[in-house]
Amino acid sequence: MTAQLTKSSAIPSAIEHQRQFFGAGHTKSVEFRLAQLTRLKQAIIDRQADIVAAVKADLGRPEFEAYFEIATISEINLAIKKLKTWTKPKRVKSTLENFPSSAWIQPEPLGVVLIIGPWNYPFQLMMSPLVGAIAAGNCAILKPSEHAPATAKVVSDLIAATYEPGYITVFEGDADTSQQLLAEKFDHIFFTGGTAIGRIVMAAAAKHLTPVTLELGGKSPCIIDADINLDHAARRIAWGKFINAGQTCIAPDYLLIDHTIKEAFLAKLKSAIHHFFGHNPAQSPDFSRIINQRQFDRLTALLNSGTTIVGGETDASTRYIAPTVLDNVTWDSAVMADEIFGPILPALTYETLDQAIAQINGRPKPLALYFFSRDHGKQQQVLTETSSGGVCLNDTVLHIGVNGLPFGGVGQSGMGSYHGKATFDTFSHHKSVLKKTFWFDLDWRYAPYNASKLAQIKKLVVR
Ligand code: NDP
Repeated sequence: MTAQLTKSSAIPSAIEHQRQFFGAGHTKSVEFRLAQLTRLKQAIIDRQADIVAAVKADLGRPEFEAYFEIATISEINLAIKKLKTWTKPKRVKSTLENFPSSAWIQPEPLGVVLIIGPWNYPFQLMMSPLVGAIAAGNCAILKPSEHAPATAKVVSDLIAATYEPGYITVFEGDADTSQQLLAEKFDHIFFTGGTAIGRIVMAAAAKHLTPVTLELGGKSPCIIDADINLDHAARRIAWGKFINAGQTCIAPDYLLIDHTIKEAFLAKLKSAIHHFFGHNPAQSPDFSRIINQRQFDRLTALLNSGTTIVGGETDASTRYIAPTVLDNVTWDSAVMADEIFGPILPALTYETLDQAIAQINGRPKPLALYFFSRDHGKQQQVLTETSSGGVCLNDTVLHIGVNGLPFGGVGQSGMGSYHGKATFDTFSHHKSVLKKTFWFDLDWRYAPYNASKLAQIKKLVVR
């Protein structure tokens, strides 16, 4: 393999190199794509230990949770299994006025795509979109986050050892590297990160009229009705919130609890946290650390909101923030202003479900919404009266792992979606084709028009 290009001055020539590779048609055949997906799978399997060690170095992540990164393999397996079906033209019904003809939709690759990722799931959020880019027949440039440097290096080494840079390559670097990449013309930009940078990405893409997928964040609410299994709900919420120390885009951001069960629920939540991490989570091998000092400082400033009923301890030297639950929080508290993205869980209450829904609808549309209730009617009410990227009823986070469910935001939480076939679709253009024959050529649509032709067009369109 040719050495990986890493200098940002090489960006325009790397893109040109990939344009030539794409233009030569190398990526078009299904056999080529299948071979590259198989290579990617093997490369990930071979580097499991490196990936685990890298996310441990970057985020203090326990080995069990490091395997969430490697779950990309299930996306690869699905793409390998389904690629022939996904790439097949899909026949659609043609129209009477076109008789005789056939019509179909034919997926085609977009060209050279850019994938920019964040630091919180720094391997998976590079690889999962890449699976779709490869499956759809594109060339790709990847830009991992500088804030997870160990993982960025694993990504870079893996790609360099597996593919030639004319096909897929990585540019490690900081936000400046992203800016240099964004100044160039791509055929699609797939961005995962915060809403603020999402705006910058979209503005840069607009200059070249490049389509974007924006996988953004936001405050994902978790509504807790009184009609639940308290133990199960508490465990599932504590799990979804505190994996990766809350640095998960779809972590429950805040709780909205039916006021009649608040005390009982918070007691269960407290015991779930103690059960998971012990009474001193700093000693637990199963609890991650905050990515960097900037995020640590941002999060510790939020600990002043409300009353701490669990956690609250911090250690700047290890960037540790205990799993924390805050009670007596109001909508005006600092912790309710922006996405928390850390192990701090504020609890608010509601008196009626209508009120809870109104509060959620008064804020930007979230990436995920969680509702815990056995009540089918209330489930339907939440589903029909709120809008969010996705919903998980009676659990948290796990909807992201269902490959048949497209994953993405709505409104400020993002645009476009991926996972499973949706990733293939995101990186494909679905070309419409109409095919006519030379059997005959009816005269009715050609000038000079007359009364009979007018009658025919009226019959055709006014019905
Ligand atoms: P950022 O938006 O800060 O960064 C995302 C990427 O953009 C990084 O690669 C970063 O580079 C790059 N970047 C930073 N500044 C600029 C700039 N001025 N111009 C161009 N690119 C830039 O997000 P975080 O990495 O902090 O990730 C956290 C956010 O991501 C949260 O809001 C979270 O909800 C969201 N997220 C969304 C997910 C989803 O699937 N919807 C999944 C995971 C996270 P560098 O890091 O090297 O500076």
